[in-house]
Amino acid sequence: MRKKVLAANWKMNLSLTEAKDLYVQFDSSLPKFENLTYYVFSPSIFLHELSSNKGSIILGAQNFFPADKGAFTGEISTSHLLDAQVSSVLIGHSERRMYFSESNEFLKQKVDSAIQHGFQVVFCCGESLETRDKNEQLSFVKNQLEASLFHLSASEFLTCAIAYEPIWAIGTGRTANEEQIEEMHHSIRSWISEKYNSEVAESTSLLYGGSCNGKNAKSIFSCPNVDGGLIGGASLTFEGFNEIAREL
Ligand code: PEP
Repeated sequence: MRKKVLAANWKMNLSLTEAKDLYVQFDSSLPKFENLTYYVFSPSIFLHELSSNKGSIILGAQNFFPADKGAFTGEISTSHLLDAQVSSVLIGHSERRMYFSESNEFLKQKVDSAIQHGFQVVFCCGESLETRDKNEQLSFVKNQLEASLFHLSASEFLTCAIAYEPIWAIGTGRTANEEQIEEMHHSIRSWISEKYNSEVAESTSLLYGGSCNGKNAKSIFSCPNVDGGLIGGASLTFEGFNEIAREL
């Protein structure tokens, strides 16, 4: 059975006090279903503090550098994350691809490093508006997955979830419609099936991300191949995230 996943991407927001309070509130008060797992991708500087309050939420990092140690000023290693009891990492977010020039090849290195160190990976993919306008979104996303993720063995791949996030829907208030979302999620699942097998495809959680909120969550989650969401803006308050969780 596919696991349901609801992940908060706090990006570069919240103070330490706000983050701690929200994390504790998520843990104590979000609805709990047997098959549902929550993730919080917090700013790295809060991770140690948050891990001391760890309950059932999986604590994740938004970024790391794929080397164990060395002369990489300003970067954070997987060992640092393990020290902070972080168990998941977000890889391939469009903001990292865009503002920090993270290429498919570099993301592949991050995926390998994360898997080698036992992290659960939430891997993001998604096309720009320009690519969608040319109707090239399917081949674009397929290429992102082939370039950075599909080299994994089936057992490694099974530790990953995939978040489809059309760039034009992130933080814009503009959501992809059900047809667009289902077309992409169905395609991703069939590529996984072709690359691995139908069992692996049926066990992989596929999340949607991009301006998801309490109002549109129900229709997004009604898509048969959507298993949850990666939530930015609406995850910055308990009310916002809770409204979405209730629709899962
Ligand atoms: C995100 O950045 O992963 C995201 C989905 O953001 P938002 O929900 O704000 O569009």
